[in-house]
Order: sequence, then structure tokens, then C-alpha cells
Amino acid sequence: MSQSAFLEDRKEFIRQGGGCGSIRCDANSLSGAVSQRACVYCGARVVLNPITDAYHIVHGPIGCASYTWDIRGSLSSGEEIYRNSFSTDLGERDVVFGGAKKLTAAIDELMEKKHPKLIFVYATCIVGVIGDDVEAVCRQAEAKYGIRVIPVQSPGFSGNKSFGYKMACNALMTLLKPHIQSGAAKSGVNILGDYNLAGEMWIIQNYMRELGIEVKSTFTGDASYEKLLRAPTAALNIVQCAGSMVYLAKRMEEEMDIPYIRVSFFGVNDTSATLRTIAHAVGNAETVARAEAFTREQSARVEPLLAPYRERLKDKRAAIFVGGGFKAISLIREFNALGMKPVVVGTQTGRAEEYEVIASLVDDETVVLDDANPAELEYFMKEKKADILVGGVKERPLAYKLGIAFCDHNHERKHALAGYEGVLNFTQEIYESLASPVFSALKTPLFDKEGSSHA
Ligand code: SF4
Repeated sequence: MSQSAFLEDRKEFIRQGGGCGSIRCDANSLSGAVSQRACVYCGARVVLNPITDAYHIVHGPIGCASYTWDIRGSLSSGEEIYRNSFSTDLGERDVVFGGAKKLTAAIDELMEKKHPKLIFVYATCIVGVIGDDVEAVCRQAEAKYGIRVIPVQSPGFSGNKSFGYKMACNALMTLLKPHIQSGAAKSGVNILGDYNLAGEMWIIQNYMRELGIEVKSTFTGDASYEKLLRAPTAALNIVQCAGSMVYLAKRMEEEMDIPYIRVSFFGVNDTSATLRTIAHAVGNAETVARAEAFTREQSARVEPLLAPYRERLKDKRAAIFVGGGFKAISLIREFNALGMKPVVVGTQTGRAEEYEVIASLVDDETVVLDDANPAELEYFMKEKKADILVGGVKERPLAYKLGIAFCDHNHERKHALAGYEGVLNFTQEIYESLASPVFSALKTPLFDKEGSSHA
């Protein structure tokens, strides 16, 4: 395998099949490798943005705010203010003389015009450099207005995107801590790590309703200030996107005595197993019986609808490049269940324990990459003759330039991919993309199935 196109030091981040248990990961991106990861601030923003009635002040140059404006297509059942971005628009003068006064003025203006209950203030790169005391400004604003103004310590250079998730979780803990009632009775669940991109949080909440389990709070899909404050009274945290939320779950376990379990609502088997696990963890015999009946009924409904697709998708070769390891694992399982073969698997921020699970799910032909760049993805998709790429907005052009099918499993999609409904949507989209007549109409594909490039 010729890898002369790769930086020598990147080879530790690339493994073949079962060997990916020893892959290098959870590290800063290699200089010069053109990582697909966003910055710390962006990581924090994607976690907090779906809180529908929160105001997000980006303390920095206007570019940081515009880069992350309406960053996730998370849906709301109430407020829409989260879809706006507010910025202190720092310029050269502020960089020289300090931006704290401008931040205070921005909070004052927001209070006067919008009357928010909750503001997050994000420290960006330049704020980290000039050293504005964002915490002090937020403290003063809280005292002055009697609302929550929470700093998010997220200068873009202070780590990688995963560090931003952590900073967002710290901000959420700052919000929740005054509402911990020690000794109070606990019940119901919080749902962590779903961002309601296409209504998935509502699908999961419907399942909980079906089982008779109360949902106290959601992090952060379709969340609101009032609903978040109920979180400390939950008996269990269920964590879907572990990469962004397991840190919060651990802190809630230590500081609020709420245990957590990791779950996945992607794929029929994972969804059914998750519902049964939750029922056992927080329900009684009746809840467990309901979960058994519901999962049986749903599997029986969905399986016959999937059967014709299985026939047509069998042995197709899939490439996966997603943000977190949890999603990659779920996708591998879904492709395996469809009889397809994952030949390239990459994540932006996968962790060692997730790569160990991936190692157990793929065979030795599969290439596994941590923090891959487009050149590596292109190389391995050609080498492994992938038929379809599942990724996000940054990967879409790559797939189309290579003349292969694409499925968006990230921020921009408009149809739900979680739960039983999601399995059908996902399978249908994979099939429709692969079967699209556009690929057979390509006169000169950029690469052919023998792997040779025409570019
Ligand atoms: S925080 Fe820094 S790296 Fe992130 S968008 Fe702003 S300037 Fe760029």
C-alpha cells in the first residue's frame, strides 16, 4: 500500500481492520495535515446552540460568529431565538485596549432589547490572547440583571473540538449546580447527546412516552432554560453521543448522584436493545413488559419493509467519516445489518474505547482513520472501491467529485435517522443515492471501479 501522499506522522492515526484498537487518537491534529475538525469554540457552540431560548454572544471578531451562525439545523418546539448569532464584533482598537467594555455593552443592549433569561458568552481566540476577564463581566451582569450569564471558555486555539464539548459541558454544569437538591427524590430520565437535527429527540421522547417513562430534560436538542433546570431531579442519564456528552454525564454522576448509561438509537437492533435497557434501569415489571411488546411490534413492522432494500444493497461498499466514534459504531452496525461492507471508517474525535469497539466490528480489509483529511479519505475510498460515502457537509463535494454516492448523516440533513423511523429513512436514502441514474450518466468518472484516476 503506497502511502507516500501522507505525512509520516499521520500513519499512527491510520490502521487496518482489527488493528485499530491501537490507533492513535484523542490527540491534537497534526500540523499541516489539514484536519476536518473545527475549533474549540465551534465544538462548544454546537453543543449549546440547540438550547432554544438561550442567547449566544460570541465575544470575538465577527468571523467567529458568522462561521457558526445557525450551525445546526436543530429543530425547536418553541422559541427560535437560538437560530440567531450575537457578536461583540471586536476590531483592532478592542484588541489593543481590551474588549471587556464592549462585552458589557453588548449584554446591556441585549437586556434592553430582548430580555433574555439565559446568555452564554463565548471567549474566542483573540479574547484568549488579550486576556479579557469574561468571567468577571458575566458575574457583574448576573448581579445587575438577576439572570444567568454564563461564560464559555473556548478560545479556538486552546485544544481541539473535543475540548470545546467539555467547555460547553462545564457551562451547563454552571447553569445546573444551583438547582441541585440534595436528598430529593429522583425519577425519570434525561436524554443526553441528541441535537434534534431532524426531530430525533421527539422520536426518542415518543418512545419514552410509550414506555411510560418521564423525560425530565434534554441535552441539548429542543432544550429550554426552564426544562434544563429540571435535570438534577432525574434518576438516570441516557447518553447517545458519548463524545460530546459523557463528560457531562460523569460530572452529573459525581456531583448530582445521577448514574448514566450509553445508548444508541441508530439501527433496529440498537434501538430495541436501548429501549429494553432503559426500561430495566428505571422502570418496573410493567415498563419492562411494555418495552418488550413495543420493540417486538416495531421490529416486526420495520423488518419486512427493509427486506427488499437488503436484497439490492447486499455487498455494496461503504465509506464512513463522521464526528464521533459512537456514530461510526452505529453506522457500521447498520451497514452490517444491510449486508453492506464498511471498507473505510473515519472519525474526527473518536476515543480509544470506541476504536476498540470498531475493531471488533470490522474485518481486516477495512481501513480505519482518526482525524482524517480529504486526501486520505480520497486515497482510501479509491483503493477500497467505495460505492457510497456517509459523512457531513464537508465530505459531500469529495464524494461527488469522485463520482460516488453520498448520504448526509450530519448537521444539514432534514430527515430523521434515529429510531425505527430513522432506519427506514436511512436505508431508503442509501439506496436512492446508490441507484441514482446520475452515476451511470457520468461520461468520464473521476475514478473507475478498478481504482485508477482519470483526474
Ligand atoms: S475561535 Fe479562533 S479558530 Fe475559532 S473561529 Fe474564532 S478565530 Fe477561528
